[in-house]
Amino acid sequence: MDFNDSPEEATYRAKARAWLEAHARRRTDGGARGMAVADGSNLGEAKAWQALKADAGYAGITIQAPYGAGGTPIEAVIYRQEEGQFEVPFGVYEIGLGMAIPTVIAHGSDAHRDRYVRKALRGEEIWCQLFSEPAGGSDLAALRTKGVRDGDDWLVTGQKVWTSGAHYADYGILLVRTDPSRPKHKGLTMFIVDMKAPGVEVRPIRTMAGSAEFNEVFFDNVRIPDSDRLGEAGNGWNVAISTLMTERMQAGMGFGFVSAHDVLRLARRYGQDDALITQRVADFWINDQALKLLSYRAQTSLSQGGFPGPEQAVNKAIEAAQGQQAAYFCMDLLGAEGALAAAEVGEHWAGVETSWMWASAMRIAGGSDEILRNIIAERVLGLPGDPRPDRNTPFNELKH
Ligand SMILES: Cc1cc2nc3c(=O)[nH]c(=O)nc-3n(C[C@H](O)[C@H](O)[C@H](O)COP(=O)(O)OP(=O)(O)OC[C@H]3O[C@@H](n4cnc5c(N)ncnc54)[C@H](O)[C@@H]3O)c2cc1C
Repeated sequence: MDFNDSPEEATYRAKARAWLEAHARRRTDGGARGMAVADGSNLGEAKAWQALKADAGYAGITIQAPYGAGGTPIEAVIYRQEEGQFEVPFGVYEIGLGMAIPTVIAHGSDAHRDRYVRKALRGEEIWCQLFSEPAGGSDLAALRTKGVRDGDDWLVTGQKVWTSGAHYADYGILLVRTDPSRPKHKGLTMFIVDMKAPGVEVRPIRTMAGSAEFNEVFFDNVRIPDSDRLGEAGNGWNVAISTLMTERMQAGMGFGFVSAHDVLRLARRYGQDDALITQRVADFWINDQALKLLSYRAQTSLSQGGFPGPEQAVNKAIEAAQGQQAAYFCMDLLGAEGALAAAEVGEHWAGVETSWMWASAMRIAGGSDEILRNIIAERVLGLPGDPRPDRNTPFNELKH
């Protein structure tokens, strides 16, 4: 198997790298570059960088012309790999451009595409994804936020949770139950919601890392015009699945954790003469190589015009676990210094500190470990499915 770029891919990589060299500073620390979710403290910088990328054709690489660059998924992967080597703001636009805008393009009208896509690509408007609820996380179709038709509008009431970036988002894609008399997957509808509309209240959730990247979002009779519906009323589950497919395309492409290189660097500094440490470093290195091969498989499939299948779940499950173990191991290597904040030890270890705090979240976001194992069992190995007794019962007859 040939893992090298094709001649076209190599040309694209060289062009992207040259553009990045001209417009950004190459990273020298080699450490984690931050998490997939941003707290919004770098909004000004992120907006400026996004506008620059849009002018150069690197925003929305896979989004079709005339809105985006109309490139291929493998070009998006190549650009992401190259950008990862540079000091650039990260985490503000990933959900909007990676999930919300592709959903608007696929299921919205021409008027939606004209109104929203360019502004999102240029970074002028930021989007969030309002799916998860206290009662609807892994089992998303159990969500309870309700939408009731009122003339040309819908009135939405309920609560979302873990909504990344809602506190700085301008718009969101919102999944709502509009027909409780139908089984749980059938009575859902997707909308575009204006996050500044009356009745929308965003309450940031502060994490143990001290920052607030995600939120609770409350809806109190929020009026959404029917013209801002994405897809047919009652077809929201299929719209949501298409959003989650684009999420899967992004998964396994790195979480910004400490890398095997970071582990090696730290081990050289703190644990050179310890045979047990050397053995653990070797384990990380070997796992890292295996992960690289797994992601090459996904890349090969993208490069040949296909899409990574459910086997991508294997990649995500292993990568999230390896990232967490690497972060914990790095913290152990730092010894007593590991107990201090990066501000005291030196900013160059900030990545280790952030990764240590955030590693567990990455075992939940984008599919928890257990859900990924279910996917692998059912769709890769062909084992019998989880029992799903509530599948065909009208939602309002289920016990809550
Ligand atoms: C960093 C981060 C960012 C996020 N951003 C967003 C966002 O922007 N928008 C959004 O809508 N959501 C977001 N989420 C929410 C995320 O999608 C949910 O946390 C996830 O789907 C899990 O749902 P839950 O938290 O309700 O856990 P639950 O579904 O309640 O799961 C609890 C535990 O039970 C296990 N479990 C559940 N069902 C099964 C089963 N059938 N078999 C075996 N075990 C099971 C789970 O694996 C888990 O360990 C984010 C989450 C994180 C961590």
